[in-house]
Amino acid sequence: MLPDNAFRAEAAAWLAQHAPAMRARLDAASNDRARFDAGRAWQRELYDDRWAGISWPTEYGGRGATPAQATIFAEEQARFAVSSGFVGSTIGMVGPTLLRYGNEAQRLRYLRPLLRADETWCQLFSEPSAGSDLANLSTRADRHGDEFVVNGQKVWTSNAHLCDFAILLARTNPDVPKHRGISFLLLDLRAPGVEIRPLRQITGAAHFNEVFLTDARVPLENVVGDVDGGWAPARVVLAHEASVIGGGNSAATGYDALLDLARMRDCRRDPIVRQRLAHVYTREQILGYMKHRVLQSVRSGDRPEIDGSVMKVLWSEARRERAELGVALLGAGGALCDEWPAQLLEQFSGTIGGGTNEVHRTMIGERVLGLPPEPRVDRDVSYRELVAARA
Ligand SMILES: Cc1cc2nc3c(=O)[nH]c(=O)nc-3n(C[C@H](O)[C@H](O)[C@H](O)COP(=O)(O)OP(=O)(O)OC[C@H]3O[C@@H](n4cnc5c(N)ncnc54)[C@H](O)[C@@H]3O)c2cc1C
Repeated sequence: MLPDNAFRAEAAAWLAQHAPAMRARLDAASNDRARFDAGRAWQRELYDDRWAGISWPTEYGGRGATPAQATIFAEEQARFAVSSGFVGSTIGMVGPTLLRYGNEAQRLRYLRPLLRADETWCQLFSEPSAGSDLANLSTRADRHGDEFVVNGQKVWTSNAHLCDFAILLARTNPDVPKHRGISFLLLDLRAPGVEIRPLRQITGAAHFNEVFLTDARVPLENVVGDVDGGWAPARVVLAHEASVIGGGNSAATGYDALLDLARMRDCRRDPIVRQRLAHVYTREQILGYMKHRVLQSVRSGDRPEIDGSVMKVLWSEARRERAELGVALLGAGGALCDEWPAQLLEQFSGTIGGGTNEVHRTMIGERVLGLPPEPRVDRDVSYRELVAARA
């Protein structure tokens, strides 16, 4: 295996050769589908030259290198401002979950096409009455011979209309407490009984969807982990999701652009603007240092000292502050500009997506600060009784 310095040099040389064309594709991408396709093409390029799944085992398409080298590549890639975007985020959630909870047949069937983005994945978790309280989900999967028949409705499913497969949570046993009767299934989105309807957002984009499942069939071999034991793999997905979001994969314009804007509007010496700029700058630096610490821990094989929820809350709030300042600097002229108002409207994708900041603050209280846990009065009550009590 290459030593880290040689690995970094090789990664930087490869990126210098390939990243500019990808950057140009991303800059030219004018809508969600074009960005999704550009990310997919980049992921294939990474895979074909062995820069995808750097720390994954080779038998599943990875490079078999160390987690430290995976972070080195991530650092180098960030310097070139390219990434495989949504596709990369889902690989970062689905991959580790299948590696940990999938059986050998599932790993061999799904991991390579996932890593090369030949098959793309979305996450069918949230429902109209199950978001923060995800374990309250009511989508049912009933066993019929060697398959499950699934009925229910999912919502806020990012990019389902562009994907091939989904990780799906469904209730397989209503007679046990809510967390214990859920199964984690792999669903082919092209199967009969799957209907995907786009949701139009305030920005005009339709990034996410409602997904209706009517007698959709999932073979028994597509259960990840144990039947009724889906909460364990689901937690792996959620933990990786917070880290991916907190790692700041999604694009957002930063301090430098705000400073340019303040110069252009001739207000960078205004004391209030200076104060707000300083605040944005400070947050950005703190986040950078925290990210660096997380990478250092990964590199030395330790558990990151900084919790993924902390990163997620800070990153999403910093993003909101930047967007608010951008719009404030533009004043009435903002009505004629696309970028900053769009970022302001999109702030909620960071503060709500991947679990709301309020819920992540509760997790920080419990996990990081060691505060007493929230009362969980329904912990020992079966899901069926909960539903009956609400009726
Ligand atoms: C951009 C974006 C992309 C998304 N993509 C996906 C996806 O691909 N797949 C998927 O399955 N889901 C996705 N989601 C859904 C997301 O996971 C949920 O929106 C989120 O978990 C919150 O659930 P909810 O919308 O039902 O809000 P609710 O849970 O109804 O919450 C409403 C309000 O109550 C507060 N609240 C609720 N419970 C508590 C509590 N215990 N303590 C304090 N406050 C509380 C919340 O913070 C929030 O302010 C996405 C969401 C967004 C915004």
